[in-house]
Amino acid sequence: MANYLVTGGAGFIGSNIVDALVARGDDVAVLDDLSSGRRENLAGALAAGAVLHEADIRDAAAVRAAFDAARPELVFHLAAQIDVRKSIDDPAFDAGVNVVGTINVLEAARAAGVARLVNTSTGGAIYGETDVMPTPETVTPLPMAAYGQSKQCAELYCAWYARLYGMGTVTLRYGNVYGPRQDPAGEAGVIAIFAGRLLDGRHPVIFGDGLATRDYTFVGDIVAANLAAAANPGATGSYNVGTGTESSVLDVVDALREAGDTAPDAFAPVHEPARMGELQRSSLDVTRARDELGFTTGTTLVEGVRATLGHIRAQRG
Ligand code: NAD
Repeated sequence: MANYLVTGGAGFIGSNIVDALVARGDDVAVLDDLSSGRRENLAGALAAGAVLHEADIRDAAAVRAAFDAARPELVFHLAAQIDVRKSIDDPAFDAGVNVVGTINVLEAARAAGVARLVNTSTGGAIYGETDVMPTPETVTPLPMAAYGQSKQCAELYCAWYARLYGMGTVTLRYGNVYGPRQDPAGEAGVIAIFAGRLLDGRHPVIFGDGLATRDYTFVGDIVAANLAAAANPGATGSYNVGTGTESSVLDVVDALREAGDTAPDAFAPVHEPARMGELQRSSLDVTRARDELGFTTGTTLVEGVRATLGHIRAQRG
């Protein structure tokens, strides 16, 4: 049993990590400004004794106060500005949250004597256009969006805290994460959006030909990777966490039809013009995470999509 603090713990992925920690009996504090996260995501955890500190990671004093109150031994840092389009429209705001906010969390962690911090980055946005598929960590990041740039910068600060202070930091670069609690009404997350549309009896809207690929990774597997990274003091630097396989948007539509037992005509895609600046291909080489963290991608696309549909159905009663 240990004492954890999860920044962004009221969000989609963070709240799944919080639940896993609470389930195994750990003490958990959450630091979140509820800008995109929701208190309801923490209903079970708060009832079980987890504590929510409502604070903005851009506010160094508030972050410090939360750390002083929680006294964590380990930190999962997920709080972030995650909207790629917004990052391009307002790169200074994006950097304020993702870079300066991360520095505030690292400073508070250092002052509190935190043993280990697991940072969150993006395998989908950090590498930019590359022909190396699946992409290993050795490919030089050349992000196209400010979001990938700020996440890369935050990674470098985590590595710097390890170098200068000997703080145990490690970064996980996720693929395109999906699963329970991702917002079907949000901008991010094609699987959640399409799952919502399938349950509404509406057609999926595909921008472009639907052949663009992503490394769709189930949130339960992401949680497992986080717990493994926290438990492994030898893990340093950055690890890809994904499936190592490419799935197209059309594959997602097929998986949803299969999981939802839906006839092809009832869920036929409607195509709209491709959006500017979208990557054509993305998948992550996860050899390093497999060899050093014992990470395995346990969940197939159809299984994960089925769990996502089940969650949205349950939420809607
Ligand atoms: P999310 O929006 O559900 O979670 C982000 C959380 O951070 C929210 O609870 C939000 O309220 C909180 N937050 C945002 N700004 C904050 C601030 N200034 N101060 C305090 N809290 C703040 O999104 P998510 O998909 O769960 O993302 C979690 C992490 O995973 C992020 O770091 C994101 O960059 C990373 N990530 C996500 C994906 C994905 O596919 N969803 C892929 C790669 C990396």
